[in-house]
Amino acid sequence: SEVSQEERALTSGRVTAAHGRHYFVTTPAGERIEAHRRGKKGDVVVGDIVRISEAVSGVAAIESIEPRKSLLYRSDEWRIKSLAANVDQVAIVFSSRPTFNPWFIWKALLAAHEAGIPALVIRNKCDLGEDAEAADAEVERLKGLGVPTMRISALEKPEEALAALLPQFEGKTTLLVGQSGMGKSTILNLLVPHAKAATREFSVALNLGKQTTTAARWYEADEWQGAVVDTPGFQEFGLAHLSLSDILRAMPDIASHATDCRFFNCRHLHEPGCSVKAALEAGEIDPERYDFYVAMASEADPLPR
Ligand code: GDP
Ligand code: ZN
Repeated sequence: SEVSQEERALTSGRVTAAHGRHYFVTTPAGERIEAHRRGKKGDVVVGDIVRISEAVSGVAAIESIEPRKSLLYRSDEWRIKSLAANVDQVAIVFSSRPTFNPWFIWKALLAAHEAGIPALVIRNKCDLGEDAEAADAEVERLKGLGVPTMRISALEKPEEALAALLPQFEGKTTLLVGQSGMGKSTILNLLVPHAKAATREFSVALNLGKQTTTAARWYEADEWQGAVVDTPGFQEFGLAHLSLSDILRAMPDIASHATDCRFFNCRHLHEPGCSVKAALEAGEIDPERYDFYVAMASEADPLPR
């Protein structure tokens, strides 16, 4: 049947939340519109700028997606999951309690590097004395790798934390990632005071109830001309989509020692005459970083068993 001109009127906006094929699109005027993706599944990502046709009754339809400035992925053996589109930087949050996994941080750094997005690491809960050494040592290691870091106490010293965070967040869209319990929500609520209310609204409109979702949410912060994208509920940061050369490009602390390997296509795993292995044995490479490299390289290009 013929579609009338009114029904076809297009509006554009930002995808600010996603659940299955349901999306929230926020217009430049601040209006939130619920929209579905017709036909194609899974190609719309939080952060996308989309054109939607307004339905006369019921829900709007996403018709097209604008070209993306950036796209960040994670993946497992089975599929690649887009995390967010059009973010300017990735902020990785960790703390001493609960126990953090450095590999989560390093994987997030690899994913950001691969996507061409700058990253910074926020070490939170600096007020806690217990197990602080490991967290502070990680900050030093990251500094050594050239990663920008900051130390805050989002709960205990919110004003100071905000003063440290704002210069890094102002005018940018930042994707927040971290293992659960590290203080990501506390930091989000500090940066975006209306985030709690917005989260409730998303849940009600998307019918989520208490169900957790892995989709990201986009929170606009007019106060500092930026946005925060929150990624709830994942512990693993899979990187099965990265190739060996992607990994090496993102790990100069390993790759810089690949100067004199016997084989031009050396993977720096078990090959004889490997200058990376020689540097490792000479104590010039952090053994934990090498173990991580081996795990990532094996995942990228499985060895025959
Ligand atoms: P998320 O799971 O990463 O979103 O973590 P939350 O923001 O929910 O924080 C987890 C717990 O850590 C909560 O009980 C927070 O109150 C607490 N927390 C967050 N930031 C800090 C901090 O700077 N210091 C201390 N001591 N606790 C914090
Ligand atoms: Zn080698």
